[in-house]
Amino acid sequence: MYPREFDYVAPSSLDEALEALGDDSKVMAGGMSLLPLMKMRLFSPAVVVDIGRIGGLDTIEESNGDIVIGALVRHATTATSPLVAQVATGLATAASLTGDVQVRNRGTTCGSLAHADVAADQPAAALALGATMVAQSSEGTREIAASDFFVDALTSALQPNEILTSIRVPKHQAGEGSAYDKLGRRGGRSDYAIAGAAAWVKMEGGSVADARVALTGVGTKASLANAVADAVIGTDGSEQAVKDAAARATEDVTIIEDLYGTEEYKTHLAKVYAARALSQAIANAS
Ligand SMILES: Cc1cc2nc3c(=O)[nH]c(=O)nc-3n(C[C@H](O)[C@H](O)[C@H](O)COP(=O)(O)OP(=O)(O)OC[C@H]3O[C@@H](n4cnc5c(N)ncnc54)[C@H](O)[C@@H]3O)c2cc1C
Repeated sequence: MYPREFDYVAPSSLDEALEALGDDSKVMAGGMSLLPLMKMRLFSPAVVVDIGRIGGLDTIEESNGDIVIGALVRHATTATSPLVAQVATGLATAASLTGDVQVRNRGTTCGSLAHADVAADQPAAALALGATMVAQSSEGTREIAASDFFVDALTSALQPNEILTSIRVPKHQAGEGSAYDKLGRRGGRSDYAIAGAAAWVKMEGGSVADARVALTGVGTKASLANAVADAVIGTDGSEQAVKDAAARATEDVTIIEDLYGTEEYKTHLAKVYAARALSQAIANAS
């Protein structure tokens, strides 16, 4: 199907892009999700603002204990950056498991977060790693914690006049580690998650001192599984402690049945993947 008619603008500066945005416009980064949805006529914006020609948005930098990932950093770059792999491991893994090679070479990490698909990989990693979203409009810049960013299916906290210019991810410090794992819709680890989980932990003196766990694919949005984190904190992070904590994976999430799994199956997978992500994060921390 063809999209409805729309105006296309490709500004070369952020200011021009912000000026072009209005109530009936859409930002386009890689176009990997926007264009299919426009062809299906689920989105029919009057104006598409292509940010792909704006310079300076395609970098990964270190700043004040964070890594800053710009709006035009592709999944493939996030996935293969040695820096991201070392200090934000769960996000690198989630990016590496996002779609196929074409999608990873075109789609962007920020686009995946802004898109807020219920079964996307990187939103769970952003939640578990405690990322902050940096949104800019012509009125200024605001920062949104990942925990406040994912509002509902395909709905983020971004306003129509805002561009997600970058995300800030706290770098792992000594004793910290993170991980992401999923079951993909094609039965393996590629394609959208039937269920996936990301985890971040801080180990101190052989115990779990702090933790965050997030789920994707099982509810109406990626969300934190706080009960799992609360249950694993203070334990030794052993296999049994992780299994007991992961058994609480669905306490903070309403599991939604879909074409890929019943409520019962997704509940099971949420626990399995919460345990896998937690165990791997604990292993990575040491
Ligand atoms: C075949 C296929 C398989 C896929 N498999 C997976 C998968 O396994 N896992 C997964 O997580 N995803 C998957 N995806 C989705 C893919 O990750 C998209 O690239 C990503 O969701 C959107 O990134 P993009 O840069 O292409 O954004 P676009 O498609 O350009 O935009 C997507 C949405 O985000 C908004 N947006 C984008 N960038 C910004 C910004 N900087 N500021 C404000 N709004 C913005 C747009 O307005 C639009 O609403 C798949 C896509 C395809 C086509």
